[in-house]
Amino acid sequence: MRPDASLVQRWIRPEIQALSAYHVPPARGFIKLDAMENPYGWPPELVQAWLDTLRSVELNRYPDPGASELSDALRRAMQVPAGMQVVLGNGSDELIQMLALAVAAPGRVVLAPEPTFVMYRMIAQVVGMRYQAVALADDFSLDSGAMLAAIETHAPAIVFLAYPNNPTGTLFEARVVEEVIGAAPGLVVVDEAYAPFTDASFMCRLGEFPNLLVMRTVSKMGLAGLRLGLLAGAPEWLGEIDKTRLPYNINVLTQASACFALQHKGLLDAQAARIRADRGDLLRRLAALPGVQPWPSEANFILFRVAAGSADAVFESLRAQGVLIKNINPAGGRLRDCLRVTVGTAEENAAFLQALDQALSA
Ligand code: PMP
Repeated sequence: MRPDASLVQRWIRPEIQALSAYHVPPARGFIKLDAMENPYGWPPELVQAWLDTLRSVELNRYPDPGASELSDALRRAMQVPAGMQVVLGNGSDELIQMLALAVAAPGRVVLAPEPTFVMYRMIAQVVGMRYQAVALADDFSLDSGAMLAAIETHAPAIVFLAYPNNPTGTLFEARVVEEVIGAAPGLVVVDEAYAPFTDASFMCRLGEFPNLLVMRTVSKMGLAGLRLGLLAGAPEWLGEIDKTRLPYNINVLTQASACFALQHKGLLDAQAARIRADRGDLLRRLAALPGVQPWPSEANFILFRVAAGSADAVFESLRAQGVLIKNINPAGGRLRDCLRVTVGTAEENAAFLQALDQALSA
């Protein structure tokens, strides 16, 4: 017997009913440039060596609860300063959730500049917190005055700053980030998901600010399938946040595979360097197309605007030609007429540009 709608409505919290689930479109068979993945795989001998490692993994046993070997490897790979603690998450999405669970209380606020990564808002709403957006400046830089005023008014428990930002690709000015950290009464989480594609980072500055945490992920560096993120900061904070973590949240396959991959980090670094170089090329070619306005990016994707009212049609034409990117136009506001493309292989980028050229002339 199926439940009555009124039964569901009575018990599911109204703020959950009001949410739309995070949407992931089907991508099989497409040139997939929608999700900021690294497009490169591994050479066959490395795949073989990885499979050999997996042979000794005991699936009948729970994982190491503290993932100690992996934590040490990640600390080295991501240059976490000595004296700082780390907590690992099932993707950085889970870390955002742990952070929110650790501070959530009625009336408490999560604050972020917008447009930005949508999970900050979504997770704040799921845990019953207030979410306060602060508009970025017209050039998508951090609006220092607006941020400081909103921090003063709302006294947020957490400020999230994606550094570089998604979906704009912008790297906020370090000076303004410092001002925000200095003004915030609670935590400031600098989310460095796109760290492989920029030289900037607050990781080495963790010791300078008592309320700063830095978040990383292995997703964009080529291991999105593993679901693994890292939160770094002072043990006083991380010891508390760790209490919201579910036991064994990093499974045995992820622990073994990530340890193996980090032993071959040189390969992942070389792939990221290639993506960075190809990003410059893609940006120049996009800018040369009539009516296309791309924004400079410090990440592995480029946001671009097309002629007013044409984004949905351009997106659909690309899809019909077998190229999947992200249509940002439905977000509206300053993202109206915007699309976002992930930097792929040189061949994928060329196929995308050709399909876009076709879409624009249709
Ligand atoms: N932070 C930002 C800024 C992101 O753009 C994303 C994913 N697109 C994430 C975090 C989530 O990454 P993960 O795969 O580690 O959950």
